[in-house]
Amino acid sequence: MATNKNFNFNKKQNYSSSELFKKLSTGDVIALSQAITLIESENLAHKETANELIKLSFSSHNKSLRLGITGVPGVGKSTFIESFGEIIATSGKKLAVLAIDPSSQQTGGSILGDKTRMEELGKKSNVFIRPSPAGNTLGGVARSTRESILLCEAAGFDIILIETVGVGQSETEVHSMVDFFLLLMLSGAGDELQGIKRGIMEMADLVVINKSDGNNVTKAKSAQKLLQSALHYFPPHLSGWTTKTLTCSSLKNTGIKEIWGECLNYHQQMTESGYLTQNRNKQNKNWFQQSITLYLKNVFLKRPKIKSLIDLKEEQILNGSISPFQAADEVTSLL
Ligand code: GDP
Repeated sequence: MATNKNFNFNKKQNYSSSELFKKLSTGDVIALSQAITLIESENLAHKETANELIKLSFSSHNKSLRLGITGVPGVGKSTFIESFGEIIATSGKKLAVLAIDPSSQQTGGSILGDKTRMEELGKKSNVFIRPSPAGNTLGGVARSTRESILLCEAAGFDIILIETVGVGQSETEVHSMVDFFLLLMLSGAGDELQGIKRGIMEMADLVVINKSDGNNVTKAKSAQKLLQSALHYFPPHLSGWTTKTLTCSSLKNTGIKEIWGECLNYHQQMTESGYLTQNRNKQNKNWFQQSITLYLKNVFLKRPKIKSLIDLKEEQILNGSISPFQAADEVTSLL
């Protein structure tokens, strides 16, 4: 099984960045797991090797397709990825699945990790599945996932699928690092019930109603029609792509090939139009700017003088002696 959840990054297996890169670029999934563990590590001693590894792995000419998949818990994401991944793997492409679990940030527990997920798919030799911890810094999800994408690409994976639970901030982050964004939904429940925000619908390149099987087929088809007409009122995508809605049954394996067909259409059209490169360049520019902001923020907030001043200002805000804006002005005047 390609999944390597329990990898223990210990000193004995501590490769140099170029050794690790050499191994992972041959497609060695153990080395890929080690590399991801390294970049996720919060141990400062690993930072330099991790940065060198990312430098070696970065390629602006990568031909991969980065797919984001989101949907509320229970919509059928892991069942869908099993069926969808099977088609991709059978077509001979190498598939990496990175599953982001934002719940671990708040609860220390995990929505994604508690279940045995995508077990069959994980057994395939050309599939790599890796759960991604949310990380405990703001932007932590984005950073380690973006870096993991680069590592998977360096290891020769053609399709990088990033799964996230459709409940919050992580969708926007995932959207900012993928080429194509797929939203899984259910029929018979309003958008509000499904917890899907309008903004997430707007980001989608494809909306799929899952569980279109048994008694649910007719409901799924009418939900599809409704959604398709609702999508006309959304602003057009910069790419010129028109968002479609499809139905599928991940359990019965119907409609999945059509979804993969849409992804391939998108990839071809956007490669030909130049949008894929243009969008990745924009994403890289944003990543660069975000990294600077995050770095400056960390450096500034870690200064002991600033930390104690912030504690003091928080007390003053709570006892009403200062406004939050004035407090922020006073702290940032020390920049
Ligand atoms: P996730 O939380 O979004 O990853 O959802 P899961 O893949 O774990 O699926 C949640 C439940 O829905 C499970 O009991 C699945 O068997 C079921 N399920 C998923 N896809 C389908 C489908 O296409 N049809 C039906 N009838 N059930 C499905």
